[in-house]
Amino acid sequence: MGNDYEDLREVEETDESKDSKDTSDYEDVCFMCRRSESVAGKMFKLPHNICLCNDCMHKTMDTVNQYDYQGMLNSPNMYMSDENMKKIQEQLGPIAFMNFSDMKGNNSIPNKQKLKKKKKEEKAKPIFDINNIPAPHKIKATLDEYVVGQEKAKKMISVAVYNHYKRVATNTMDEIEIEKSNILMLGPTGCGKTYLVKTLARLLDVPLAIADATSLTEAGYIGDDIESVVSKLLAAAGNDTEKAESGIIFIDEIDKIAKKQNTNSRDVSGESVQQGMLKLLEGAEVEVPVGANSKNAMVPLTTVNTKNILFICGGAFPGLEEIIKQRLSKQSGIGFNADLKDRFDKEKNILHKVTVEDIKKFGMIPEFVGRLPIICSLDGLSKESLIKILKEPKNAILKQYQKLLELDEVKLEFEDDALEAIAERALKRDTGARALRAIIEEFMMDIMYEIPKDENIGTVTITRAYIEGTGGPGIGIREVKRLPENK
Ligand code: ADP
Repeated sequence: MGNDYEDLREVEETDESKDSKDTSDYEDVCFMCRRSESVAGKMFKLPHNICLCNDCMHKTMDTVNQYDYQGMLNSPNMYMSDENMKKIQEQLGPIAFMNFSDMKGNNSIPNKQKLKKKKKEEKAKPIFDINNIPAPHKIKATLDEYVVGQEKAKKMISVAVYNHYKRVATNTMDEIEIEKSNILMLGPTGCGKTYLVKTLARLLDVPLAIADATSLTEAGYIGDDIESVVSKLLAAAGNDTEKAESGIIFIDEIDKIAKKQNTNSRDVSGESVQQGMLKLLEGAEVEVPVGANSKNAMVPLTTVNTKNILFICGGAFPGLEEIIKQRLSKQSGIGFNADLKDRFDKEKNILHKVTVEDIKKFGMIPEFVGRLPIICSLDGLSKESLIKILKEPKNAILKQYQKLLELDEVKLEFEDDALEAIAERALKRDTGARALRAIIEEFMMDIMYEIPKDENIGTVTITRAYIEGTGGPGIGIREVKRLPENK
């Protein structure tokens, strides 16, 4: 019996409907479970514009198989004639599982049983091809267009990514096995850790999953399984296992899974998570649910190999600076060359002097740190960097606002002094570049509200006084009036 409906699908596909299928804007919906083609998969097309998904077709056939109403349903014309339909309806009586009158759907209403397809976004061409990865200096140059400062980190990451994808593309696994170059990123909040990874993934056009280590717990405890990060990546790759296997997983707040000090209970969200991640970082076959983030009987599983997935872990590691300082002053604290204890207090960017030992002391287990061979530190952002972030990157915030007002034919300008005032304010908030947008949003609100009202305004200049609340913005009048339909 199984073959009957397989045949049916083939027959139906050769129909003229097949030609129009791809070009149509509508997708089919299962007559029984109401799921659309994009969710439930390919449909069986029955006469009268009825579609059934694979699952429902199987279920129906299984049910029917159990009873086989006097061989009636095996009749080849069962779907076709109204008479047969009536007969079936009479026979099945109260146990009928569908409304048979619906089955006589009207051919003249073509899209009755269909859902409008979502328009596919046109994909931007990737800047780099991971199968033919450009040299590190080119990767860095492209990163420079988006990420301000962080020179050392950009350099290290460019080299790491270059080596990683070269290894993936050439599959060099013969005598000399090239080890994976997972990365550990240290740096205060808002200094661009996530942004750097996001930019990189976009340039390489590889799927990226961003997970938060704080929500991870050992399997079986409340929280996300460690393997859920891989299923996130699979989702980001559109359930394409092959694509996911060369993706990037960024695990933020990694410092939150440091070993808890002085605890007698089981450390399910700290050390155990580190232990659980070891095999992922190194490369293992993991079974992950498709289209869900927990395994249960209802979701299909697929196997993802993490061998070629690049893991980047990031964290602010508060307190690590103290550990580094302690080590440094201990090293130089004996003998004639002994330094004063607070010598390192004034030193900026002490994080660059970090060693594996310091990170272990912080609470990461040696096996975990060992699997993240590249450690790069990002600097806290200075006032100058913040000003650059405001105006220089390709999609800088100021450029975005200028573009918005340009659509209203208004020129927006920022005085240098005003930018300094914004950066000073952002520094006070201590959340790095994240504060910039919040501050700008605050004072641009009024401008975005008032400017379109008055069609005589041609230029707006943001001044320091306006940022500090002691004056207004400079307004310039346009010579040629804007066309009224713009309002
Ligand atoms: P975190 O280091 O906490 O992960 P993010 O990467 O999320 O910080 O940074 C927040 C936002 O600040 C980013 O979306 C980005 O717009 C901006 N930003 C931070 N650092 C930089 C930088 N170095 N260059 C350009 N923009 C940056």
